[in-house]
Amino acid sequence: MDKTPHSVGAAHDHLPGAHHCLQSPLPGMPEWSSCIYPGNRQPQTDFFRKTIDELSRDLIYLIFYFQGEPFINPNFLEMVAYARKNGLYTITSTNGHFLDDESAKETVESGLDRLIISVDGTTQETYEQYRKEGDLETVLQGARHVVKWKKALNSATPHIVFQFLVVRPNEHQIPEIYRLAEEIGVDEVKLKTAQVYDFERGNPLIPTDLKYSRYLPQHDGSWRTRHTLANHCWKLWHACEITWDGMVVPCCFDKDATHPLGDLKHHSFRKIWQGKEYQQFRTQILKGRDQIDICTNCTEGCKVWG
Ligand code: SF4
Repeated sequence: MDKTPHSVGAAHDHLPGAHHCLQSPLPGMPEWSSCIYPGNRQPQTDFFRKTIDELSRDLIYLIFYFQGEPFINPNFLEMVAYARKNGLYTITSTNGHFLDDESAKETVESGLDRLIISVDGTTQETYEQYRKEGDLETVLQGARHVVKWKKALNSATPHIVFQFLVVRPNEHQIPEIYRLAEEIGVDEVKLKTAQVYDFERGNPLIPTDLKYSRYLPQHDGSWRTRHTLANHCWKLWHACEITWDGMVVPCCFDKDATHPLGDLKHHSFRKIWQGKEYQQFRTQILKGRDQIDICTNCTEGCKVWG
């Protein structure tokens, strides 16, 4: 097998009880339904280690996020450290509400390579339009904690990124996010274009500056995706998502794992990767991507970063 990257979404949804990850969507944004976990799901550190043991030789990097908040898992940083020990580049994305002083120190000590912090507004009023239960100052303070501990521990990692999802309500704050990042000592700002549902007749979330939009207006008043739906998907040949309970799904657009391609509890990854379900899904993409629900409004073939 080639040494190819895979993402494992194993770290964010293991806690018993119900959790809300502060990602309440605006109307028209993809529903982050998997952020809420009723029931009794337990941390699966052993399963994670077993998976890493099986895959690390073939992996380049590991992405620790998939529809949820990684830091609500008490074993999350332990998992990161284990992946790092196995030579993997590690990335996570957080809403930034769990980076208190101690957690920030542990984050740096874990060896995490890249920390993406979502900051989708530079004032509380704008920020909470997307992060309805969020507190902007907590997020900024969390970033300050990590910057502080990087310096204190003389660590070059994690590379800290402020991710700013550009929508019409916050696009006027783009210059300010750069200023904030510089003031705090964050390494990079990434402006991300937003996926919206119901774009065909326009959507109030689509930015007025169309360079930050995945959608373009047409002469007849309708809107279409900026990119054409070509019948290919590079992701299917080099990456996948693994859910908390071991289901392998094609990509992060399968938000509710409705296209399972195999179960690591019962089969090896190699068997799943080369198995019938995976091959059928790949063939389906090559024949008609527009026939697969999740594939008609995804980022494959389009510019994601503004
Ligand atoms: S949703 Fe997009 S990235 Fe995912 S399998 Fe379909 S085309 Fe590929």
